[in-house]
Amino acid sequence: MIKIISFGLLIVALVVIMVIRRKTQTKFAILPSEGRLLTRKEITKQLKRLSQAKPPKNLSMGAMCYEVAIKEHPNKVEYICSVCGERTIYNKNEYSNTSVMDVLEYGLSACRREITKITNVNIQLNDTQFCKNCSPHTIVPELCLKVQIDGEQIQHSISNVSFQDLRILREFFEGKIVHTEEEQWGIEEPLVDYIDRISELLGVQVKL
Ligand SMILES: [Zn+2]
Repeated sequence: MIKIISFGLLIVALVVIMVIRRKTQTKFAILPSEGRLLTRKEITKQLKRLSQAKPPKNLSMGAMCYEVAIKEHPNKVEYICSVCGERTIYNKNEYSNTSVMDVLEYGLSACRREITKITNVNIQLNDTQFCKNCSPHTIVPELCLKVQIDGEQIQHSISNVSFQDLRILREFFEGKIVHTEEEQWGIEEPLVDYIDRISELLGVQVKL
């Protein structure tokens, strides 16, 4: 008898948890089935909804271990081109005042992984500016992004893209309202703070 009651209680508890989770998740779940390409109209609608979403409370400030942030770059970093396979060596001294070493050492592989998780728009990362063979005239290379919205002919290009840009895009398409900077010890920020950048990255201008 007790077993039946406790089983019953367990079921009730599970249902309550599921309802609560569903409620919090669907609050901003605007998104269609996973991986479906969105039209400009749908992206616009999503941007508007993000702008209207109530900023979440109790965001994590992240762990307070800032000393971790001070990382020393090695003197040389090797870049292997994803197009031609050529190796390019970057010297720290030569690029000390740019984000080049940072991108090469911490960002590029993470960016290549992150972009595969964005499935609601045709999106491509172009890192060939880092290749001295493909881009012999580039002085300070930047990461570039190409975006093509479903059903449109024109491709939108944007340069000087960072890992964070790809992360906010992914979060946006996942219908999130919180941006989590994993690389910075779990600091959370309202995703709506990045709405202008999201719009710029996608080439979708919205009057908010
Ligand atoms: Zn190349």
